[in-house]
Amino acid sequence: MGQIPPSSIDEIKKILASSRKIVIITHDNPDGDAIGSSLGLYQFFCREGHNVNVVTPNMYPEFLHWLPGNEKVIIFSEQKDYAVKLIKEAEIIFNLDFNEFNRIRKIEPYVKKVKAVKVLIDHHPVKESFADYIISDISVSSTAELIFKFIINLGKKNCIDKSIAECLFTGIMADTGCFSFNSSQEDTFRIVSELLTYGIEKDKIYRNLYDNFSEDRMKLLGYCLNKKMVVIPDYRTAYLSLTKDELKQYNFKIGDTEGFVNFPLSIKDIIFSALFIEKTNHVKISFRSKGTFKVNKFSENNFNGGGHKNAAGGESNLNLEKTINKFIDLLPEYIKYLKE
Ligand code: 5GP
Ligand code: MN
Repeated sequence: MGQIPPSSIDEIKKILASSRKIVIITHDNPDGDAIGSSLGLYQFFCREGHNVNVVTPNMYPEFLHWLPGNEKVIIFSEQKDYAVKLIKEAEIIFNLDFNEFNRIRKIEPYVKKVKAVKVLIDHHPVKESFADYIISDISVSSTAELIFKFIINLGKKNCIDKSIAECLFTGIMADTGCFSFNSSQEDTFRIVSELLTYGIEKDKIYRNLYDNFSEDRMKLLGYCLNKKMVVIPDYRTAYLSLTKDELKQYNFKIGDTEGFVNFPLSIKDIIFSALFIEKTNHVKISFRSKGTFKVNKFSENNFNGGGHKNAAGGESNLNLEKTINKFIDLLPEYIKYLKE
């Protein structure tokens, strides 16, 4: 487990030698890895006697609310003044599961301004190096895996307990789609097998994450696949889209469309999938691929986004129809990669 630079670890260790005011921040629309890694690190720092808080830009899906420590998370969009106060007072800010400042949206100017030591722990391809210490490894499954390695590298393995293990396991499970992708490295399974020794209930965590659809959400998925999926075999591409009205019709709640974008990839020969969601002032887009096609580059070049090779996100300020047309018009440019 040697990917973390020993010099950074030594310096961070020195800073953490006395009780510190710490804020942990993760990206907007937080997913299982963002929240799992943040709460895992949060609990570790609590055990170590630090004064620690987790701040997220906005609310996250209910299927993550069972995680230990969830009630302590401060949602910037709901408790802005308190969050700003904590950020201003922080001595160390840990930035988890993102590496571009704009991923923390309205929190960005506050974090940019403060003098606190900034540590970044992330597994996305590095774009910005805004932190004083960067712990980044794009070969790992998840930020949660890096948090595990970070704690081990600090020499604090004995601090890991069931709650921390649950949070980190959740992060790894979420970012690997239950170990179906991003999980070809032996280390991931070594860490998972170690996390299981803390008595976590793997099947319960699976059920909490995946077997918890509301009836509305399940019907929205059915509708989306049945009525809104467009398959373009010539480009081995399929896409889904949902308007604001359609979401309203199915009583949309945050997180309800999570995972929808993966379904078209189960169609034989489809290697590129997109999901377009109409928001109030923009369209939120998710991209997924199988194999070599780099959706992070596709999103970065065309939709102001980024992410991983096979899972990325972006957005468009055009309306939904124009955004989809732009997407379709782009496909010929990428034919070489989509035919591979
Ligand atoms: P999702 O499609 O689930 O929202 O995101 C998939 C992946 O892309 C995640 O790793 C997420 O962090 C990243 N991602 C999503 N939206 C954006 C975006 O607007 N910009 C960048 N750089 N990455 C994004
Ligand atoms: Mn992640």
